[in-house]
Amino acid sequence: MTKLLITGGASFIGSEFVRQLVQKSHKPVIIDALTYAGDLVRLAQVKGHYTFYKADICDPAALACIFKKEKPTHIIHFAAESHVDRSILGSDEFIRTNVTGTQRLLDAAKSADIHKFIHISTDEVYGDILRGRFLETTPLNPSSPYSASKAAADLLVKSYIRTFKFPAIIVRPSNNYGPWQYPEKFVPVIIYKALHNHKIPVFGQGLNVREWLHVADCASAVWAILNKGQIGETYNVGSGNERKNIQIAKTILDILGKPHSLIQFVQDRPGHDLRYSLNFAKITKELTWKPRISFDQGLQDTITWYTTHTPWLETKVKFLREYWKKVYK
Ligand code: NAD
Repeated sequence: MTKLLITGGASFIGSEFVRQLVQKSHKPVIIDALTYAGDLVRLAQVKGHYTFYKADICDPAALACIFKKEKPTHIIHFAAESHVDRSILGSDEFIRTNVTGTQRLLDAAKSADIHKFIHISTDEVYGDILRGRFLETTPLNPSSPYSASKAAADLLVKSYIRTFKFPAIIVRPSNNYGPWQYPEKFVPVIIYKALHNHKIPVFGQGLNVREWLHVADCASAVWAILNKGQIGETYNVGSGNERKNIQIAKTILDILGKPHSLIQFVQDRPGHDLRYSLNFAKITKELTWKPRISFDQGLQDTITWYTTHTPWLETKVKFLREYWKKVYK
């Protein structure tokens, strides 16, 4: 019997993974602390098809209790503090959840009969690269407190693989975009502000390059890795869709029929990584996974989604105004 346990199932990417699992007739168990970033509304369409525990992954007693009751066989670990700019404002929660939380989860899983533990990392652990692409073997060189906390978690996972023969796999996706992303992240910030004819903040000169992966493609990659990935391995998950931030801002404005004059360059993010780019030949060759959603279509659909989910967007933005004043100067 397979029992899937998803941490951070109420997150942007985790909820997409859960929705895809339910479509495949799974009934996963979810652990999520429902921080400002978590939201069960993302799972409304699959209500009744998952078991939910509001719990903190840093709480060993809560984990022990859930593991005893649910006896998971496979764990997919999405829960994290995920926003770089917040980690620059203060990194305590990043170290707590991303490092200590991962360690507590690894310990809970180590004492249980786990067949596979999928650790969701990020391309940001490699730092930035001006030319060429990161391989899974590229040394870790994180730039922000967020990426440093994720790199620390990766090293912990690697140490459990080696020391305890722990059955883990590390997944390093590039920047995700798509429906239900919390509007502190680049794409929904632009969409929200453009819809309201507000100035659109772009760090520096907007020349930083990101590799954009649709959240549905990211979730399908995690599914492929869960089923066919080799224990002890790491898989990059990219798309090849590299874009400068300024290009993304202009494209969104064009699609919404808004003027480029809304763009306002703001003080650059400290330590801002210039370019991320993943070599993801390993997952395409070994697991026959490839991204299916073209960037043009994915972005168009994402904009349509936000324009048809403005009440949800507004409930989130309400809490972001003070925060935006701190990061966009
Ligand atoms: P998110 O910010 O949307 O959500 C994070 C989730 O973790 C929330 O549901 C929150 O309630 C939960 N959480 C936070 N602290 C917790 C704790 N202590 N205990 C239990 N739950 C807790 O996240 P996301 O953007 O969907 O990212 C999911 C994962 O993918 C993260 O590990 C992130 O580092 C990684 N990742 C994200 C991206 C991206 O572009 N968003 C890219 C690569 C990797």
